[in-house]
This record gives sequence, structure tokens and C-alpha cells, in this order.
Amino acid sequence: MRQCVALLMAAGSGVRLGGEVPKQYRDLAGVPMLRRSIEALSARPAIDAVQVVIGAGQTELYAAATAGLDLLPPVLGGATRQESVRRGLEALLDEPPALVLVHDGARPFASPDLIGRVITALAEAEAVLPVVPVVDTLKRLDEAGSVADEVPREALARAQTPQGFRFATLLAAHRRHAGVACTDDAGVVALDGVAVQTVLGEEENFKVTTESDLWRAEALLAGQPRRWVTGTGFDVHAFAAGRRLVLCGIEVPHERGLAGHSDADVALHAVTDALFGAMADGDIGSHFPPSDPQWKDASSDRFLRYAVDRLTARGGRLEHVDLTIIGERPKIGPYRDAMRRSLARIAGLRVEAVGVKATTTERLGFCGREEGLAAQAAVTVSLPA
Ligand code: MG
Repeated sequence: MRQCVALLMAAGSGVRLGGEVPKQYRDLAGVPMLRRSIEALSARPAIDAVQVVIGAGQTELYAAATAGLDLLPPVLGGATRQESVRRGLEALLDEPPALVLVHDGARPFASPDLIGRVITALAEAEAVLPVVPVVDTLKRLDEAGSVADEVPREALARAQTPQGFRFATLLAAHRRHAGVACTDDAGVVALDGVAVQTVLGEEENFKVTTESDLWRAEALLAGQPRRWVTGTGFDVHAFAAGRRLVLCGIEVPHERGLAGHSDADVALHAVTDALFGAMADGDIGSHFPPSDPQWKDASSDRFLRYAVDRLTARGGRLEHVDLTIIGERPKIGPYRDAMRRSLARIAGLRVEAVGVKATTTERLGFCGREEGLAAQAAVTVSLPA
């Protein structure tokens, strides 16, 4: 039985921040905000599963933002946030958890400590709300915008998410008060007289709403320590008649292609293996066994994208690729820039961060005898420290 499920609210269509996509799909330091919000929760061992509620027309954005993550199928939200939460809860009914955390898709900085405080408090409470104190002096204004009086702030607090609930309590409240507008889920259960326990929230767990929030979020991420890791990869394929020659995802005219189970793109294989090496995460053969028929004639960009997704899922970022293709013919020079562009596109890099070099072996060895091509790659990646 599932003990605790996290429900991520990402159904908003707001583009207040500008850009072409709803804010929860905007990138923060190269990773979609929603993915960061999801991973803050999915990385906690106490959370058994994560389900995201998305808006109409967001299926493709969602798929791109969550590639490689192990999530429950997304649920389509309703006209209001409240309706969206209720739909999310109803979707969990086939395997109802004991506890549910409801979190904003635009709060990417919920810390492990904060999430732990909410879950721990749920051992005693039916509903738990993280709050931060109000530090500014509060004034009530009249209609003309002048100060009418001061509002004592001692008894006031700002509500955050994740808010935690006994699943049955929250679902019952949402069903009973479906038409009553509340701004958050603590407000919905309060309508049933449920006591809401507060725990200390965090200033860094702010909701990214305005353009200045976006800058603040980028600055926070830029300040987080990262470690730099290098991976290397090497691959060889033999020439064979009747095959296309594919290098870095583009077809290169030549009288023979390379033999292999997939499209035999020796260059992409070396880069992919370098990425697995940087993550200390097996190798291309362990992730894509040649014995598996589904990889027969597969386009090798899938292998590289898969490795990049695994890196992204760890909070990592591919920073640079340095590739050397080894062989006498075909000459690589005329295709170098097309290869760099193709490799950059597949790996999600700027072209300037992709180097493609070529060398011969002075006619020595199997490459010198034109029996095949070799490729070696070094990748630089950065990971959260
Ligand atoms: Mg290979």
C-alpha cells in the first residue's frame, strides 16, 4: 500500500512571466521549473509516488519536462486550482495512499528538511501547513490608497506548500466543498473544522510568480555548488557493404557504411558511453543490450538522448563534448560543422560546446586498412555537489 503520494499542481496556463510556455515549464538554469519541483519531492524516500495535474494542451510540454522520471500518469486539471486538486485526488483512488502532499509546480526549492517536517507532523495531525513569518509591517489601505490603520502581524503568517493531509480527510473536504472558492487546500479542510497544524516553512521555498522571482531562482541555482566530472568513451565498428554511413546523426556519402545492430553511429556511441562514464552508470551495452531486438537498426540519437535524460534526472548538465573520429576515409572536414550542429541538437548543447575532430592512423592498423572506423569522446558534465 502506498503510504504517501505527492500531488504536483501544474495545470496553470499563466504566461505572466512572458515567453511562450506556462511558467511551470520555463527553464531554470537549463532544467524546467516543474521538473525541479517534482524532483524535490520524488527524491524523498518517504514519498512513494508522484502524480502531476496538468492543463489542457500541455501533454507534450509535460512529456518533455519529465522525460526519464518515474511518475504516475498525469491527470488533466479543471477550471480552477481547487477542481484540479480534486481531480488529482480522485485519480489516486484505485490505490489510495494514507497521506498526500499537495505542492505547487512553481515551487522548485522545497528542501528535504521542509518536506520531512510536513510528513513528520502528519503522524499527529490531519492537516499540516508550512508557514513563514511576516516580517514587513502591514498596513490596511483605504480606497484612495492612503494608510487607514496598521495590521498587527504577530498572528499572521504566509502559507506555502507542500501542504500535507490524511488522504481521506482532504478528498472528503474537496468533494463536499467543490463549489466554494478557497485559495489553498488547508482552506478547504478548514471548512470541515479540521485543525491545521503549522510547521516552519522556508524563505527559499518561494513560488516563482514574477520576472524578479525568476531572476532570484536563477541566482539561487547559480550559487549552489556543483562538481565537474569528465567521462570518456571509445567505440569501433567495421565497414560493411550495403549500409548507410551515419556519423553524429547525419548521413555521410561513402561507398560503405558501418556494420552493427543499430544504425552503427560510432560517433554517437562513443559520446553516449562517455556520458555513462561521467555518471558511473554502466555502459551503452548494459543499457541497450545488442541481444534486444527493439534496438535493431535503431537510430542512435535515442541512445544519446536517453543518457542525457538520465544526467538531467540527477540534476546534472552536459557542458561540453570533444569527439575524435579515427579513420582514413571518408574525409570528415566537409561534414564537420553539420556533425557539430546535429550532435548539439541531439544532446541539447550550443554548437560552440561541441568539438568534432578527425585523424587518420597513418595507414596503420584496422583503421589504416579501412576495415572500419573508431571514435573516442570526452564529455564534461556538471552535477550538484
Ligand atoms: Mg557501438
